[in-house]
Amino acid sequence: MLTEFSLIDKFFKQSTPQNSETRLGIGDDCALLSIPNGYELAVTTDTMVEGVHFFADANPAQLGHKLLAVNLSDLAAMGAKPLAVTLALTLPRIDEIWLSEFSEGFLKLARRYNVDLIGGDTTKGTLILTVQAMGLVPNGQALKRSTAQVGDIIYMTGLLGEAGLGLKIKQGYECHAANAVARFHEPMPRIETGLALRSVASACIDISDGLVGDLGHILKQSGVGACVDFDKLPLSDDVKSYIENTGDEFMPLVAGDDYELCFTVPPKFVHRVPENCTAIGIIEKESGLRLKKPGHIETFTAKGYEHFS
Ligand code: ADP
Ligand code: MG
Repeated sequence: MLTEFSLIDKFFKQSTPQNSETRLGIGDDCALLSIPNGYELAVTTDTMVEGVHFFADANPAQLGHKLLAVNLSDLAAMGAKPLAVTLALTLPRIDEIWLSEFSEGFLKLARRYNVDLIGGDTTKGTLILTVQAMGLVPNGQALKRSTAQVGDIIYMTGLLGEAGLGLKIKQGYECHAANAVARFHEPMPRIETGLALRSVASACIDISDGLVGDLGHILKQSGVGACVDFDKLPLSDDVKSYIENTGDEFMPLVAGDDYELCFTVPPKFVHRVPENCTAIGIIEKESGLRLKKPGHIETFTAKGYEHFS
């Protein structure tokens, strides 16, 4: 039977740190990070709970990937470069096959973005997975939610509603949309785009709870409103046919889990927006979110997913 310590050694201890800022990794009471002159440390944490964020039969490698991806996505949304993460695991039992697949999914993504796993905690109980992620951003260049300005153009990366369609398929909707299923189980954090948006975007957020809810956070915290053009939303053919088949045109607007970035750009900087992004609307003075449809404008009130509601 593995002890807590041999478990960490076997599955989570990486050989050497990938970043020179990582002065001390797993094994002591604390890890040590040095923050280079002129940089701020961006810190975020996200938890996934069995029965709320995933089910007991979830593929462990995909879980490991998604747990890290959702945390790195928060760093991307701030324009921070990932540096290090800690991992707190609450496990009902020590299942070596589960742990080996979970750590493989987790560490594969960590290697891809040069993230050091520098510590954590391991306890017994209902399956709960928590990551704290830390990244570096030059002083004053972090992309906040509170700084969108009237007249800024609203953009997003990638496609909208892919993960939402992936979830519908998991729940029984029948269609063959491989990308949608992959996006739901293994979202990719938009790290490179986040870095490219430093000193280009005026505000930024990642779409975890749905475009309406997450763009809503930018609007509220910036004290502005917006109009989004329904016809400009980047929808895949799979999502378009889902809408045709079901009449559920709100799914891509309110479904979560895409982990694309939604950001605002002053008109003078639009030529610097990366290629994989689509302009979807404009920031306006009048508060609230409006949706432009052919021939008319609707006011949007539906919320993204909220816990405790
Ligand atoms: P302490 O009792 O001082 O909190 P622990 O016994 O919990 O230390 O952990 C020993 C070392 O292993 C620490 O460096 C801790 O950060 C690391 N660690 C514990 N659990 C994990 C985990 N799930 N992933 C990565 N590192 C871990
Ligand atoms: Mg501990």
